Amino acid sequence: MNCSVCPRECNVDRTENIGFCGVGENFRIARAAPHFWEEPPISGDKGSGAVFFSGCNLRCVYCQNGEISRECFGKDITETQLKRIFDNLIDQGVHNLNLVTPSHYVPMLAKVLSEYHSPVSVVYNTSSYEKADTLKMLEGLVDIYLPDIKYFDSAPALKYSCAPDYFEVASRAVLEMFRQVGQLETDENGIAKKGIIIRHMVLPGNVSQAEKIFAWVRDNLGTDTCISVMRQYTPFGKAKEIKPIDRPLSAREYSIVKSKIKELGFGNVFFQQKSSSSEIFIPAFDLEGVDL
Ligand code: SF4
Repeated sequence: MNCSVCPRECNVDRTENIGFCGVGENFRIARAAPHFWEEPPISGDKGSGAVFFSGCNLRCVYCQNGEISRECFGKDITETQLKRIFDNLIDQGVHNLNLVTPSHYVPMLAKVLSEYHSPVSVVYNTSSYEKADTLKMLEGLVDIYLPDIKYFDSAPALKYSCAPDYFEVASRAVLEMFRQVGQLETDENGIAKKGIIIRHMVLPGNVSQAEKIFAWVRDNLGTDTCISVMRQYTPFGKAKEIKPIDRPLSAREYSIVKSKIKELGFGNVFFQQKSSSSEIFIPAFDLEGVDL
């Protein structure tokens, strides 16, 4: 059947061709290992069981994981192997299974998750460029949504991600995620069990996006929503030649965003340290945990 899983609606037969996301009919994975650099309720002290899916339906010019999102490095695996990868992560004691950039695999993933019955929480970690109708397939299978809302305005969405309809699409997707899981709930140790954490990575020269995005979150989901305001942007690849994203975020820009967030009245906010902007936080895409 031709693929219209995501808003790109490529209409290609993925058994024979590839669409915008760059991958065919099989799961392709680049790494599956405990990960310690997500927000504290996700990483905890035992790590989050991050499964990095290859390919991407957004392919931002500045992506720090370009090796897997744009170049599609990874290994094709079967459904049975994916379940084995989940088992291996759980055996290592992780707090959750963290599915990173899985949007272009949703129907296949829904089937695996419905058969797997994970004993730990399932985290869906996404750019939010998703069809709300496709996300409905994950109802009852995903416990925690970790959507990154990237842009409010069409101009940066077009310039950096070739998706001028980004916010229209992403806002509908986030409302569907919220409908499924509601506000963040944690256990007695502060580890996330259910709910949503909304992220936004502030881009240099684009601080107005953060204010507009979080004003929308306040108006539509409320100030109880857990949000994560990321300052980890580091220029990579083609982004090193594109102004104004050819430089890291300045301390002044992040400080402006922090003030705006406080004015908006959110009570549950994660801010990042300046030291988070470094290439050392990029995982090694070396098939760790994939060849099982
Ligand atoms: S999932 Fe991939 S092939 Fe399918 S519509 Fe989206 S980008 Fe195109």
